[in-house]
Amino acid sequence: MSIENNKKQFCQLCNNQLNGNESICPHCGWVQQLDMDEPDKIHWSYNFVSYSKAKNLLSEGKPLIPDFSDFLKCMEIYSELEFFINDNHFGIITDSDKKIHFYKWNETDTKYQIYSNIREFANKATINGVLLKNLWNQVTKFGTAS
Ligand SMILES: [Zn+2]
Repeated sequence: MSIENNKKQFCQLCNNQLNGNESICPHCGWVQQLDMDEPDKIHWSYNFVSYSKAKNLLSEGKPLIPDFSDFLKCMEIYSELEFFINDNHFGIITDSDKKIHFYKWNETDTKYQIYSNIREFANKATINGVLLKNLWNQVTKFGTAS
């Protein structure tokens, strides 16, 4: 019997105990990263903020939701993302031409907003006429939509 298999695992971020070998911390939501060499960078790890920023959010008692500029960085990494503002569900897809498709979940194609790049999306995307960047602090949930 290996001692290693019975070793308790603790979260890199909040130091609470993990459930067995699960990588998502049940306490803070941090996904354990194999590569911790660049704590200020968002990795391909299903964390949407850097380790350093996650530490700050945790210490302030805030959820691990990216701010608008981190969200734009996530768009460079993940081609399908989703977020919620209360019960309203939105999706963002980056297509093979790097165009950004922004839509309300389960609505028809005519409601799609299509932007030629991330910068244009950042400056022009709206929800009910209000710029998304001005609504971003109301986001209640964020993740990949694959
Ligand atoms: Zn944790």
